[in-house]
Amino acid sequence: MGLKDFFIDFCILCTGIFLIHHFNTKMSSESSIRKRIRGGVLHGLFGVLLMKFGIQLNDGLLIDLRTIPMMIAAYVGGWVSILVATIIIIICRLTFYPISYSSLINVVVLTLSATAFTLITSSSMKVKKKWILMALSFIIIIGSIIQAIIPDFTKASIIFVQYAFAIVCATYGTYQLKSYLWRIDDNYEKLTEFAQRDFLTGLNNARTFDVVINSAYVTAIERQDELSLIIIDIDYFKQVNDTYGHPAGDEVLKEIGRILIQSCRSEDIVSRNGGEEFSIIMPACDSTSAKKSAERIRQSVEQSVFKINKDVELQVTVSIGYSTLNQKNMISVGQLIHQADEGLYMAKQTGRNRISRYLHTV
Ligand code: GH3
Ligand code: MG
Ligand code: MG
Repeated sequence: MGLKDFFIDFCILCTGIFLIHHFNTKMSSESSIRKRIRGGVLHGLFGVLLMKFGIQLNDGLLIDLRTIPMMIAAYVGGWVSILVATIIIIICRLTFYPISYSSLINVVVLTLSATAFTLITSSSMKVKKKWILMALSFIIIIGSIIQAIIPDFTKASIIFVQYAFAIVCATYGTYQLKSYLWRIDDNYEKLTEFAQRDFLTGLNNARTFDVVINSAYVTAIERQDELSLIIIDIDYFKQVNDTYGHPAGDEVLKEIGRILIQSCRSEDIVSRNGGEEFSIIMPACDSTSAKKSAERIRQSVEQSVFKINKDVELQVTVSIGYSTLNQKNMISVGQLIHQADEGLYMAKQTGRNRISRYLHTV
């Protein structure tokens, strides 16, 4: 077998897998039809490219790795992608080369392989098993065809062994490379999640709060819209920890997070800014609405019973400060946060379990 040809084909295969993965990340059989068609087109064209870079066998016969992109298409995009990819490869095969007995056999092989790949990938088998079976099914199909069309058994067997060797190596390499790329995607997603979320409550963390408030501020200024910020702090939370223990305190924090999510609009962004302090960024929300929301939250917390375990139920209260960016109060993002903080400080100073707004005196 032309090992040099095989090596070149394998390098093209790796490059194509990287590029398509980059343009078509997160494609799965649950993706939109449009995305799966796009995946099918990309893998189909990739198959055509590989068809152009054939591997010369010792006796002059040309083989290629076009079935590998078909396997990937079936695996990542289900029947839609493999159908599109196969149609593209068949059309190009019939267009670029003269129609002959050999091209018709090619169409049969591609159709049978596509059917086998679809059935295998739609089953509930393990990932590795699916790839092994896809390679195996293609080897069986191509083996049967080679034996049928080449009368000399020895010659047919030599060709078959070389073809099977090329397919096994290419499928194994593809599986390894794809697994590596999927692992990187998963880890990247997890790290992004860890970096943006507070592990205890699942809310945004202080870093995300900072990013979101800045972008909400820019948007509000551009649209000449109002922007409100609410800062919430649990009253005497240290006592909860001291009396019932840290895990009980954690449960209270989680429950407060849930209450905040339930109490605000879908466009509001809830964060845990640190310790027992939370915030809600409220785009396009005026001062009156922010006040109403703050009061609603205060009452919800006050009326909630925090069930720590079957023996312990406790009640907590929160103090809330709020501030609003509007035509009357054209402030910087730092001042918006500072004013909400000042409001919270005043709520604490005037007795806790209340809401307050920073009133600036000129
Ligand atoms: P105030 O009404 O003035 O806010 O009093 P406070 O006791 O709530 O405030 P203080 O700042 O004195 O105490 C905050 C406590 O929050 C102290 C700390 O142990 C607790 N805390 C901070 N982060 C966590 C956490 O992740 N879990 C638990 N259980 N407690 C936490
Ligand atoms: Mg507190
Ligand atoms: Mg605090």
